Amino acid sequence: MIKFKNELPFVEDTSLYDIIKVCNTPFYIYSQEIITQKVKYTKKILGENIFFSVKSNSNQAILKLMNSLNIGADVVSIGELKRSLNAGFPPNKIIFEGVGKSKEDLIYAIQKNIRLINTESLEEIKLIQKLASEKNKMVNIGVRLNPNIDGGTISKITTGKKTDKFGIDINEVENIVNLISNCSNLNLIGISCHIGSQISNIDAYKNTFIEMKKAANKFISLGIEIKHVDLGGGFHVQYNKDEPQFKIEDMKKELDLCFNSSTYKLSFEPGRYLIAEAGILVTSIINSKQNGGINYLIVDAGMNTLIRPAMYNAHHDIETISKSSDNSLIYTVAGPICESSDIFIKNILLSEQNIDDILIIKNTGAYGKVMSSTYNTRSLPAEVLVNKENFAMIYVPEKIENNIGEDIIPSWL
Ligand code: PLP
Repeated sequence: MIKFKNELPFVEDTSLYDIIKVCNTPFYIYSQEIITQKVKYTKKILGENIFFSVKSNSNQAILKLMNSLNIGADVVSIGELKRSLNAGFPPNKIIFEGVGKSKEDLIYAIQKNIRLINTESLEEIKLIQKLASEKNKMVNIGVRLNPNIDGGTISKITTGKKTDKFGIDINEVENIVNLISNCSNLNLIGISCHIGSQISNIDAYKNTFIEMKKAANKFISLGIEIKHVDLGGGFHVQYNKDEPQFKIEDMKKELDLCFNSSTYKLSFEPGRYLIAEAGILVTSIINSKQNGGINYLIVDAGMNTLIRPAMYNAHHDIETISKSSDNSLIYTVAGPICESSDIFIKNILLSEQNIDDILIIKNTGAYGKVMSSTYNTRSLPAEVLVNKENFAMIYVPEKIENNIGEDIIPSWL
């Protein structure tokens, strides 16, 4: 994402140093151009029914951009639903999922007339019927099915095996239909699934498509008019050149083979695929030291800023923009948090670095800022959107003093 012009780093046509002048590290930068190209390409391959998975990056500037590119939103909480409405998504382009929606969440979604609520249990279907009938409304629902397919990804981001907490067992179609036939306020218009994230194995997609087609046919044979089959997200992004490469075109071939004569529309909920590569995390070196023969660079971003390496052992390449030395050294880049897992990368070869030099942690547009926290009482990171030679701060964190001020000390202390 960083391009060098006359040895100076740029994002699109904006100098990185111009951003650094007005924004304290650590902060995220997103490229509007890269997001736009990725969304357009995905639509070209998969068609118009794309619903951006808001959990991957929920900044309202990003949501407004996604809406302007004519895709919908897939939300998993009432907060994400409110953000998406606030950012301008029309209610009929918002899908609400999630394994645990409260009564208040459901009432809000019903009142807003969103496109559909994807239900994840028979109990939830009964609850939506009750709430819809109290409000005297007809509500569009979908059912998220659990196809019992292992996406071959790491266990922390697998969601499609039958022992996972997500969805309704795909063998429960008859029970779902029986229940729906007694729910006079519900229109069952779609089925969906999402077997996990970072799925590169084309056979896992193929098997999922086959199971979902069988399930759709079964619903149709039992008299339900299925209008949408939503195949979820989870498309793999190559963070590291040693990882397998996922080609969306290969998945599309399987899709066409499986659903060539279907009567319903197919839809998708990608998050990471649309935005991961459009983001970087900019961080400053605050300390360097040698421990046990390891050259540590301690940076001002920590696992509270980007948790993926600590939580998932995720790999994010790191590049330097300060090439002041011709010497190179093998470094381990670590954050300032008091946890041994607060390491971004080990054994990376960089030109010799000094305190205040800047490092770029790459491919951090998805599941970066959204998963950040104030752990160790540290500020959240800022966010910046670049559009050609313009840039804007799209999130300015509150001062850590405000966060400290939120604690309430009871009168007896
Ligand atoms: N849909 C659902 C229901 C999800 O839970 C997720 C994330 O796990 C996604 C879509 C998006 O996944 P990804 O960002 O891997 O495309």
